[in-house]
Formats: sequence, C-alpha cells, structure tokens
Amino acid sequence: MNNYYKKHQKQIEDLSYKPRLLLHVCCGPCSLYPLYYLKDHFRITVYYTNSNIYPIAEYDHRLWELERYLDALDAPIELVMPKYDVSYQKRLAPYAFEREGLRRCAKCYAYRLKDSYEYAKTHNFEYFSTIMSISRHKNSDYLNYLGSKLEEEDKGPKFLFADFKKGNGESLNKQFNHVMKLYEQNYCGCLYSK
Ligand code: SF4
Repeated sequence: MNNYYKKHQKQIEDLSYKPRLLLHVCCGPCSLYPLYYLKDHFRITVYYTNSNIYPIAEYDHRLWELERYLDALDAPIELVMPKYDVSYQKRLAPYAFEREGLRRCAKCYAYRLKDSYEYAKTHNFEYFSTIMSISRHKNSDYLNYLGSKLEEEDKGPKFLFADFKKGNGESLNKQFNHVMKLYEQNYCGCLYSK
C-alpha cells in the first residue's frame, strides 16, 4: 500500500525553492493546519471549486469563513473562486441514495480535482493538490490516486501527495479552531449528504 504521507514528506524535502501550488480548499475549518504548514514551502493560490455544496447560501457561508481565516493568516495567499455551477447536484443524482464514501463521493472528488488540475495547468502552476485528506471522512488513498493519475496522463503540473491528518495534523487542525472558532458544518456538502 502507498504511504502518501511519506511521499509528501519526500516531495517537501526535495524542494530547493518555493514553487507555485494551486490548492483546492473545501472549507475554512479543514484548511487551518494545511495552509499554515504549506505556506512555508509553496507560493499558494487557494482554489475554491466547491459547487458540490448545497444550497448556495451554505457555499457562501463556508467561503466567508475561509476568507476570515486567510485574513487572519496574513500570508501572501491568493483566492480564486470559479463560478458556482447550479447543475452540479444533477451530476451526483444517479448515486443520490448511496451512503457517503461510495460512488457519489468518488465522482465528486474526481470532478473537483480535475477542475483544479485544469486550472493549474492553464495558469502555469508547478503543483496542484487538495486539502481534503485532513478529514477522516474522506478517502485519502483515492484522492491521492486520482491526483497522481491526472499528473501521469497529461504530464501537466505535479500532484502534491498528502495525508494531512497524519503527523498530528488532525489534532493540530482541531486546536487551531479552538482559537479561530470557524463555523463547522454538520454535513459534507451536497444535497444528498444534507
Ligand atoms: S457527500 Fe461530500 S464528497 Fe460525497 S458527493 Fe456529497 S459533497 Fe461530494
């Protein structure tokens, strides 16, 4: 089995300068530790491609909380928000009644990673990745597999492997939110998880 945490550490050790990283971020509370840690290694642009979040008021709420954290971080991190896609829920509809973590989520990870990859490629980023592996509800192996496939198939930006919950990441992330007190949602995002 792949140890993506170790692969990530090796990638960081091998850096000789701060490359540009397009980082998919799903919400503020999941981004606390990953952004704090990664900002010392990369020039980061946060990419908020999250049309999976339903309804749009919730999408906006999570975005505001993320912006609140970026302000507090006071680091040169850009934020890019693609247009909210109202048709996104329809794409997940064939798997509406499956429990979380199965095909609906696999599709949802793939859509958002592909979108991140395309943006990173078009805008000449050296790396792309996602912070979603901070959550124990997300399949980190599958996220890393998808990211590495995109890189391999197209030879565009490199995928930054990650399992942010490891190396005490999950606990640090929780501790950060004791200070920041960002809104923590009680469902993953889509209509079906709500
Ligand atoms: S539960 Fe979360 S990851 Fe799964 S399809 Fe819904 S929004 Fe996407």
